[in-house]
Amino acid sequence: VQHNGGNAVCFYTPEMAAAATRRMMLTMHLNHAIDRNELRLVYQPIVDSQGRVRSAEALLRWDHHALGPVSPGEFIPVAEESGLIVPITDWVLSTAIAQMARWEKEGTLPDRVFLNISGQQFLRGNLTGRLAELLDGHPSLRGHLGLEITEQAAVRDLTVAVRTLGELAELGIQAAIDDFGSGYSSLSYVQQLPVAKLKIDRAFVIDVPENPKNNALVRAAVGMAHGLGLTTVAEGVETAEQRDFLVSVGCDMMQGYLFGRPMMPDALADMLRAQAAP
Ligand code: C2E
Ligand code: CA
Ligand code: CA
Ligand code: CA
Repeated sequence: VQHNGGNAVCFYTPEMAAAATRRMMLTMHLNHAIDRNELRLVYQPIVDSQGRVRSAEALLRWDHHALGPVSPGEFIPVAEESGLIVPITDWVLSTAIAQMARWEKEGTLPDRVFLNISGQQFLRGNLTGRLAELLDGHPSLRGHLGLEITEQAAVRDLTVAVRTLGELAELGIQAAIDDFGSGYSSLSYVQQLPVAKLKIDRAFVIDVPENPKNNALVRAAVGMAHGLGLTTVAEGVETAEQRDFLVSVGCDMMQGYLFGRPMMPDALADMLRAQAAP
Protein backbone atom coordinates (compact mmCIF):
# COMPACT_ATOMS: atom_id res chain seq x y z
CA VAL A 1 0.00 0.00 0.00
CA GLN A 2 1.35 3.40 -0.91
CA HIS A 3 0.24 6.72 0.58
CA ASN A 4 0.69 9.50 -1.90
CA GLY A 5 0.41 12.75 -0.01
CA GLY A 6 -3.30 13.34 0.50
CA ASN A 7 -5.96 10.85 1.48
CA ALA A 8 -5.64 8.89 -1.71
CA VAL A 9 -4.38 5.37 -1.17
CA CYS A 10 -3.28 3.21 -4.08
CA PHE A 11 -3.26 -0.54 -3.86
CA TYR A 12 -0.75 -2.31 -6.04
CA THR A 13 -2.00 -5.69 -7.00
CA PRO A 14 0.32 -8.46 -8.20
CA GLU A 15 -1.16 -7.96 -11.68
CA MET A 16 -0.18 -4.30 -11.64
CA ALA A 17 3.33 -5.15 -10.50
CA ALA A 18 3.64 -7.73 -13.27
CA ALA A 19 2.43 -5.21 -15.85
CA ALA A 20 4.95 -2.64 -14.62
CA THR A 21 7.76 -5.19 -14.80
CA ARG A 22 6.77 -6.13 -18.33
CA ARG A 23 6.74 -2.46 -19.37
CA MET A 24 10.21 -1.97 -17.90
CA MET A 25 11.50 -5.03 -19.67
CA LEU A 26 9.95 -3.95 -22.97
CA THR A 27 11.50 -0.49 -22.63
CA MET A 28 14.92 -2.09 -22.12
CA HIS A 29 14.59 -4.35 -25.15
CA LEU A 30 12.95 -1.72 -27.33
CA ASN A 31 16.03 0.39 -26.81
CA HIS A 32 17.96 -2.10 -28.96
CA ALA A 33 15.22 -3.06 -31.38
CA ILE A 34 16.45 -0.79 -34.17
CA ASP A 35 20.15 -1.76 -33.90
CA ARG A 36 19.26 -5.43 -33.74
CA ASN A 37 17.07 -5.19 -36.81
CA GLU A 38 13.99 -6.41 -34.96
CA LEU A 39 11.56 -3.88 -36.44
CA ARG A 40 9.84 -4.20 -39.77
CA LEU A 41 6.93 -2.62 -41.59
CA VAL A 42 4.04 -4.55 -43.06
CA TYR A 43 1.52 -2.99 -45.41
CA GLN A 44 -2.23 -3.44 -45.49
CA PRO A 45 -4.12 -2.71 -48.72
CA ILE A 46 -6.81 -0.01 -48.79
CA VAL A 47 -9.36 -0.63 -51.53
CA ASP A 48 -12.00 1.45 -53.33
CA SER A 49 -15.67 0.51 -53.64
CA GLN A 50 -14.79 -1.81 -56.57
CA GLY A 51 -12.29 -3.66 -54.40
CA ARG A 52 -9.27 -2.28 -56.27
CA VAL A 53 -6.17 -1.60 -54.16
CA ARG A 54 -5.49 2.15 -54.18
CA SER A 55 -3.36 2.80 -51.16
CA ALA A 56 -1.82 1.07 -48.18
CA GLU A 57 -1.21 1.59 -44.48
CA ALA A 58 2.20 0.80 -43.04
CA LEU A 59 2.00 -1.02 -39.71
CA LEU A 60 4.95 -1.60 -37.45
CA ARG A 61 6.01 -5.05 -36.26
CA TRP A 62 8.50 -5.94 -33.55
CA ASP A 63 9.84 -9.48 -33.50
CA HIS A 64 11.98 -9.84 -30.43
CA HIS A 65 14.47 -12.71 -30.61
CA ALA A 66 13.38 -14.15 -27.26
CA LEU A 67 9.98 -12.64 -26.47
CA GLY A 68 8.60 -13.30 -29.94
CA PRO A 69 6.29 -10.82 -31.63
CA VAL A 70 5.13 -7.93 -29.45
CA SER A 71 2.05 -6.11 -30.74
CA PRO A 72 2.22 -2.38 -31.52
CA GLY A 73 -0.82 -1.95 -29.30
CA GLU A 74 1.50 -2.90 -26.45
CA PHE A 75 4.87 -1.44 -27.43
CA ILE A 76 3.81 1.90 -28.97
CA PRO A 77 2.53 3.19 -25.60
CA VAL A 78 5.80 1.99 -24.02
CA ALA A 79 7.75 3.79 -26.73
CA GLU A 80 5.77 6.98 -26.12
CA GLU A 81 6.31 6.82 -22.37
CA SER A 82 10.04 6.28 -22.69
CA GLY A 83 10.74 8.73 -25.50
CA LEU A 84 11.84 5.86 -27.76
CA ILE A 85 9.00 6.86 -30.07
CA VAL A 86 11.35 9.55 -31.48
CA PRO A 87 13.96 7.21 -33.01
CA ILE A 88 11.27 4.65 -33.84
CA THR A 89 9.21 7.18 -35.80
CA ASP A 90 12.33 8.23 -37.62
CA TRP A 91 13.02 4.61 -38.51
CA VAL A 92 9.42 4.23 -39.76
CA LEU A 93 9.65 7.35 -41.93
CA SER A 94 12.96 6.45 -43.55
CA THR A 95 12.12 2.75 -43.96
CA ALA A 96 8.76 3.47 -45.58
CA ILE A 97 10.22 6.08 -47.94
CA ALA A 98 12.99 3.67 -48.99
CA GLN A 99 10.34 0.99 -49.65
CA MET A 100 8.24 3.44 -51.66
CA ALA A 101 11.28 4.25 -53.80
CA ARG A 102 11.73 0.50 -54.51
CA TRP A 103 8.05 0.12 -55.41
CA GLU A 104 8.24 3.15 -57.68
CA LYS A 105 11.19 1.65 -59.56
CA GLU A 106 9.35 -1.63 -60.14
CA GLY A 107 6.08 0.14 -61.03
CA THR A 108 4.06 -1.04 -58.05
CA LEU A 109 3.82 2.10 -55.95
CA PRO A 110 0.29 2.59 -54.53
CA ASP A 111 -1.35 6.03 -54.94
CA ARG A 112 -0.67 6.71 -51.25
CA VAL A 113 1.17 5.02 -48.46
CA PHE A 114 -0.10 6.06 -45.04
CA LEU A 115 2.13 6.04 -41.97
CA ASN A 116 0.90 6.20 -38.37
CA ILE A 117 2.20 9.11 -36.36
CA SER A 118 1.74 9.09 -32.60
CA GLY A 119 0.19 12.17 -31.05
CA GLN A 120 3.38 13.05 -29.25
CA GLN A 121 5.43 13.05 -32.42
CA PHE A 122 2.82 14.96 -34.30
CA LEU A 123 2.52 17.74 -31.75
CA ARG A 124 6.12 18.03 -30.55
CA GLY A 125 8.58 16.59 -33.01
CA ASN A 126 10.08 18.41 -35.94
CA LEU A 127 8.03 16.17 -38.17
CA THR A 128 7.71 18.37 -41.22
CA GLY A 129 11.40 19.30 -41.20
CA ARG A 130 12.43 15.66 -41.10
CA LEU A 131 9.97 14.63 -43.81
CA ALA A 132 11.10 17.48 -46.06
CA GLU A 133 14.68 16.27 -45.59
CA LEU A 134 13.82 12.64 -46.36
CA LEU A 135 11.71 13.57 -49.39
CA ASP A 136 14.46 15.81 -50.75
CA GLY A 137 16.19 12.74 -52.12
CA HIS A 138 12.89 11.44 -53.59
CA PRO A 139 10.91 14.38 -55.00
CA SER A 140 8.67 12.05 -57.03
CA LEU A 141 7.33 10.45 -53.85
CA ARG A 142 5.92 13.71 -52.54
CA GLY A 143 2.39 13.18 -53.77
CA HIS A 144 2.35 9.58 -52.55
CA LEU A 145 2.79 9.92 -48.82
CA GLY A 146 0.05 10.17 -46.22
CA LEU A 147 0.02 10.38 -42.43
CA GLU A 148 -2.59 9.04 -40.04
CA ILE A 149 -3.10 11.07 -36.91
CA THR A 150 -5.58 10.15 -34.21
CA GLU A 151 -8.49 12.38 -33.53
CA GLN A 152 -7.36 12.88 -29.93
CA ALA A 153 -3.88 14.03 -30.97
CA ALA A 154 -5.21 16.47 -33.50
CA VAL A 155 -7.62 18.18 -31.13
CA ARG A 156 -5.25 18.25 -28.15
CA ASP A 157 -3.56 21.32 -29.57
CA LEU A 158 -5.63 22.63 -32.42
CA THR A 159 -3.31 25.54 -33.25
CA VAL A 160 -0.24 23.33 -33.63
CA ALA A 161 -2.27 20.71 -35.48
CA VAL A 162 -3.62 23.18 -38.01
CA ARG A 163 -0.15 24.63 -38.62
CA THR A 164 1.56 21.24 -38.94
CA LEU A 165 -1.13 19.88 -41.27
CA GLY A 166 -0.74 22.97 -43.44
CA GLU A 167 3.04 22.45 -43.64
CA LEU A 168 2.52 18.79 -44.52
CA ALA A 169 0.06 19.71 -47.26
CA GLU A 170 2.69 22.02 -48.75
CA LEU A 171 5.00 19.00 -48.97
CA GLY A 172 2.26 17.12 -50.82
CA ILE A 173 1.60 14.90 -47.80
CA GLN A 174 -2.03 14.02 -47.20
CA ALA A 175 -3.39 13.69 -43.68
CA ALA A 176 -6.08 11.36 -42.43
CA ILE A 177 -7.85 11.42 -39.08
CA ASP A 178 -7.42 7.92 -37.64
CA ASP A 179 -9.89 6.11 -35.39
CA PHE A 180 -12.61 8.65 -36.09
CA GLY A 181 -15.49 8.29 -33.66
CA SER A 182 -13.43 6.60 -30.94
CA GLY A 183 -12.73 9.87 -29.12
CA TYR A 184 -14.98 12.51 -27.72
CA SER A 185 -14.06 15.37 -30.01
CA SER A 186 -16.79 17.33 -31.68
CA LEU A 187 -17.29 17.68 -35.36
CA SER A 188 -16.60 21.39 -35.11
CA TYR A 189 -12.97 20.52 -34.34
CA VAL A 190 -12.57 18.16 -37.23
CA GLN A 191 -14.09 20.79 -39.48
CA GLN A 192 -11.20 23.15 -38.62
CA LEU A 193 -8.49 20.65 -39.54
CA PRO A 194 -7.00 20.67 -43.04
CA VAL A 195 -7.23 16.92 -43.57
CA ALA A 196 -8.29 14.93 -46.62
CA LYS A 197 -9.59 11.70 -45.10
CA LEU A 198 -11.52 10.35 -42.17
CA LYS A 199 -10.89 6.78 -41.08
CA ILE A 200 -13.97 5.39 -39.40
CA ASP A 201 -12.97 3.35 -36.36
CA ARG A 202 -13.32 -0.41 -36.47
CA ALA A 203 -15.54 -0.28 -33.37
CA PHE A 204 -18.35 1.11 -35.55
CA VAL A 205 -17.75 -1.18 -38.48
CA ILE A 206 -17.63 -4.33 -36.39
CA ASP A 207 -21.41 -4.81 -36.07
CA VAL A 208 -22.83 -3.20 -39.16
CA PRO A 209 -25.27 -3.94 -40.68
CA GLU A 210 -26.91 -5.74 -37.70
CA ASN A 211 -26.69 -2.83 -35.29
CA PRO A 212 -29.06 -0.05 -36.41
CA LYS A 213 -27.34 2.50 -34.15
CA ASN A 214 -23.93 1.89 -35.67
CA ASN A 215 -25.49 1.91 -39.14
CA ALA A 216 -26.81 5.39 -38.40
CA LEU A 217 -23.44 6.51 -37.02
CA VAL A 218 -21.48 5.25 -40.01
CA ARG A 219 -24.00 6.79 -42.40
CA ALA A 220 -23.78 10.11 -40.54
CA ALA A 221 -19.96 10.06 -40.48
CA VAL A 222 -19.81 9.46 -44.22
CA GLY A 223 -22.37 12.19 -44.92
CA MET A 224 -20.61 14.64 -42.65
CA ALA A 225 -17.20 13.87 -44.16
CA HIS A 226 -18.52 14.36 -47.66
CA GLY A 227 -20.19 17.59 -46.62
CA LEU A 228 -16.78 18.83 -45.48
CA GLY A 229 -15.12 17.69 -48.69
CA LEU A 230 -13.35 14.71 -47.07
CA THR A 231 -13.20 11.14 -48.26
CA THR A 232 -13.87 8.23 -45.91
CA VAL A 233 -12.06 4.99 -45.18
CA ALA A 234 -13.72 2.29 -43.09
CA GLU A 235 -11.36 0.20 -40.95
CA GLY A 236 -11.65 -3.43 -39.94
CA VAL A 237 -13.88 -4.67 -42.77
CA GLU A 238 -14.03 -8.44 -42.39
CA THR A 239 -17.24 -9.56 -44.09
CA ALA A 240 -18.98 -9.10 -47.43
CA GLU A 241 -22.07 -7.84 -45.53
CA GLN A 242 -20.03 -5.05 -43.95
CA ARG A 243 -18.56 -4.17 -47.33
CA ASP A 244 -21.96 -4.06 -49.03
CA PHE A 245 -23.38 -1.84 -46.32
CA LEU A 246 -20.39 0.53 -46.48
CA VAL A 247 -20.60 0.79 -50.25
CA SER A 248 -24.36 1.42 -49.99
CA VAL A 249 -23.83 4.42 -47.68
CA GLY A 250 -21.19 5.87 -50.00
CA CYS A 251 -18.03 5.06 -48.03
CA ASP A 252 -15.15 5.74 -50.44
CA MET A 253 -12.47 3.30 -49.30
CA MET A 254 -12.22 0.19 -47.14
CA GLN A 255 -9.53 -1.66 -45.29
CA GLY A 256 -9.70 -4.97 -43.48
CA TYR A 257 -9.01 -8.69 -43.47
CA LEU A 258 -11.69 -9.17 -46.18
CA PHE A 259 -9.34 -7.46 -48.66
CA GLY A 260 -5.98 -8.32 -47.17
CA ARG A 261 -4.07 -8.60 -43.93
CA PRO A 262 -1.03 -6.46 -43.25
CA MET A 263 1.59 -8.10 -45.53
CA MET A 264 5.20 -8.04 -46.63
CA PRO A 265 6.06 -5.37 -49.22
CA ASP A 266 6.48 -7.94 -52.02
CA ALA A 267 3.03 -9.39 -51.40
CA LEU A 268 1.43 -5.96 -51.76
CA ALA A 269 3.39 -5.40 -54.96
CA ASP A 270 2.04 -8.74 -56.25
CA MET A 271 -1.54 -7.59 -55.55
CA LEU A 272 -0.95 -4.35 -57.46
CA ARG A 273 0.66 -6.21 -60.36
CA ALA A 274 -2.20 -8.71 -60.53
CA GLN A 275 -4.84 -6.00 -60.76
CA ALA A 276 -2.84 -4.02 -63.34
CA ALA A 277 -2.73 -7.05 -65.63
CA PRO A 278 -5.39 -6.87 -68.39
P1 C2E B 1 -4.52 1.48 -36.20
O1 C2E B 1 -3.73 2.59 -36.79
O2 C2E B 1 -5.97 1.76 -35.93
O3 C2E B 1 -4.31 0.25 -37.16
C1 C2E B 1 -5.31 -0.66 -37.51
C2 C2E B 1 -5.16 -1.96 -36.74
O4 C2E B 1 -6.24 -2.82 -37.07
C3 C2E B 1 -3.89 -2.72 -37.07
O5 C2E B 1 -3.46 -3.39 -35.89
C4 C2E B 1 -4.38 -3.73 -38.12
O6 C2E B 1 -3.56 -4.87 -38.22
C5 C2E B 1 -5.74 -4.06 -37.55
N1 C2E B 1 -6.68 -4.53 -38.56
C6 C2E B 1 -6.73 -4.23 -39.88
N2 C2E B 1 -7.76 -4.83 -40.47
C7 C2E B 1 -8.41 -5.52 -39.51
C8 C2E B 1 -9.58 -6.36 -39.52
O7 C2E B 1 -10.26 -6.58 -40.52
N3 C2E B 1 -9.94 -6.91 -38.32
C9 C2E B 1 -9.24 -6.68 -37.18
N4 C2E B 1 -9.65 -7.27 -36.04
N5 C2E B 1 -8.14 -5.89 -37.13
C10 C2E B 1 -7.74 -5.33 -38.29
P2 C2E B 1 -1.93 -3.42 -35.46
O8 C2E B 1 -1.08 -3.59 -36.68
O9 C2E B 1 -1.82 -4.40 -34.35
O10 C2E B 1 -1.69 -1.96 -34.91
C11 C2E B 1 -2.32 -1.51 -33.74
C12 C2E B 1 -2.11 -0.05 -33.53
O11 C2E B 1 -0.72 0.24 -33.27
C13 C2E B 1 -2.47 0.81 -34.75
O12 C2E B 1 -3.85 1.01 -34.79
C14 C2E B 1 -1.69 2.06 -34.45
O13 C2E B 1 -2.38 2.88 -33.54
C15 C2E B 1 -0.44 1.52 -33.77
N6 C2E B 1 0.67 1.46 -34.75
C16 C2E B 1 0.97 0.51 -35.66
N7 C2E B 1 2.06 0.85 -36.38
C17 C2E B 1 2.45 2.05 -35.94
C18 C2E B 1 3.53 2.95 -36.28
O14 C2E B 1 4.33 2.73 -37.21
N8 C2E B 1 3.61 4.11 -35.56
C19 C2E B 1 2.71 4.44 -34.58
N9 C2E B 1 2.87 5.59 -33.91
N10 C2E B 1 1.70 3.63 -34.23
C20 C2E B 1 1.57 2.45 -34.91
CA1 CA C 1 -3.86 3.85 -38.51
CA1 CA D 1 -7.19 3.22 -37.09
CA1 CA E 1 -7.35 1.75 -34.05
